Amino acid sequence: QPILVWFRRDLRVSDQPTFHAAAKSGAPVIAVFIKDDLVNKLGAAPKWRLGKALEVFERTLADLNVQLVLRSGPALEVLQNLIKETNAQGVYWSRLYDPQSVARDTDVKASLRAGGVEARSFGGHLMFEPWSVETKMGGMYKVYTPFWRSVKDRDVEVPLPVPSKITVANKIESEALQDWRLGAAMRRGGEVVEQHAQVGEHAAQNRLAEFIEQDVAKYVEMRDIPSTVGTSGLSENLALGEISPHQCWHAGMRALLEGDADAEVFLKELVWREFAYHLMHHTPHILDSNWKPDWDKFKWNTDADHPDVIAWKQGRTGIEFVDAAMREMYVTGKMHNRGRMIVASYLTKHLLTHWKVGQTWFDECLTDWDPASNAMGWQWAAGSGPDASPYFRVFNPVTQLDKFDRERSYVRAWIAEGQRNPPDTALSFFKAIPESWALTPDAIYPQPIVDAATGRQRALDAYQARGF
Ligand code: FAD
Repeated sequence: QPILVWFRRDLRVSDQPTFHAAAKSGAPVIAVFIKDDLVNKLGAAPKWRLGKALEVFERTLADLNVQLVLRSGPALEVLQNLIKETNAQGVYWSRLYDPQSVARDTDVKASLRAGGVEARSFGGHLMFEPWSVETKMGGMYKVYTPFWRSVKDRDVEVPLPVPSKITVANKIESEALQDWRLGAAMRRGGEVVEQHAQVGEHAAQNRLAEFIEQDVAKYVEMRDIPSTVGTSGLSENLALGEISPHQCWHAGMRALLEGDADAEVFLKELVWREFAYHLMHHTPHILDSNWKPDWDKFKWNTDADHPDVIAWKQGRTGIEFVDAAMREMYVTGKMHNRGRMIVASYLTKHLLTHWKVGQTWFDECLTDWDPASNAMGWQWAAGSGPDASPYFRVFNPVTQLDKFDRERSYVRAWIAEGQRNPPDTALSFFKAIPESWALTPDAIYPQPIVDAATGRQRALDAYQARGF
């Protein structure tokens, strides 16, 4: 009797505890991916990127003679039908932690078990299960540094190899990936973004090896320079489980032990991701409401179609750092971390706009979209989160540029206006945007909609008047 492995955000075959356990059982393994409501509800870019991931993953599994069965519909119903069709004895999956997935999976587990089917969930998406990290008082961590201290010396599980022996199951009916049209809502069908995507397990492993060999030794200095490839660029792969955090951790740890002191900061970044999941597990409202409820009283602009917000989305605020970063995201599906902090600060502070407006736009645009990291990042920037940048600390996007893009390389890479020979990166923005934006590279670059000093003062005044 076969075992169904229900893949979700764990699209890899190495260090894949769920797949490994199914293979080890000796039972025939049936791999399945279900397009349910949670997939249908994804933003355009994450959904497009998922489609790309599935394309590659289908081939990865085929190399192991395993068919990836694609079905759509409510997960429980699909699984029950598959169990009937194949006489499967069990369903295995890797845990997810956002409240909607947890609710679905809890229901699936209870219903399958009630029907006498072995339903088992495994780890693999995180190094430290969110409930396994506790303060001395037995509570959750709300601040990153003590969280880091409490996990940094833990043993992280050693990555598992690709299963060497898999019992192959008979082929069964599958829907076709192209019929799902996961890229249908993507800007220009994804043709521009695709050039910047690093899809699949193999690509992720290569990048990790290259990063450790070439970049990690100077990570501390380079990670803040948005015009360079100073970071791993693995977020899109981690988001879909094309690589495991354990694999990244052990590679970083080896570099650290071999003398690359900067590797510790890379390990710390991996733990920021864990911290985001810890927060989401314990306080799932971080995803959609102010973590600190006092901020409900703050008079944010909540209009996503406000002209200032439109200018922010379209990269024409007249603030170079903001515009370069917003265009980088539109073209590549990703944005440098320094850029994310600057654009989020500018939207929430200079433009006094609710962080949820920004979060929603990122949900739509990011190929490395991660529910926990995105929500934590936005609440951090707005000041409403648990471990947040204080409201009065307003990033100055102009001095930040002097510090992190002194030569204006990042600005030149992304803003075509005013350049005689703009580079391809800057021009590709105009290929990626919808015609309705009516923007051209030869236009005059706009004056700031809200300049750094005025915006700062306005934010501080609103802060003074906030009444809590
Ligand atoms: P590296 O510097 O190579 O770091 C390695 C890995 O550590 C990353 O791939 C990521 O998984 C993790 N990591 C690094 N920094 C952070 C962080 N601040 N928070 C959580 N995890 C981190 N990251 C996402 O993966 N998806 C998102 O949707 C997302 N939205 C964000 C929104 C805002 C407003 C902010 C401020 C940050 C957001 N981040 C998000 C975090 C961070 O910007 C990205 O993880 C990082 O830029 C990815 O680049 P990298 O893979 O080269 O990172």
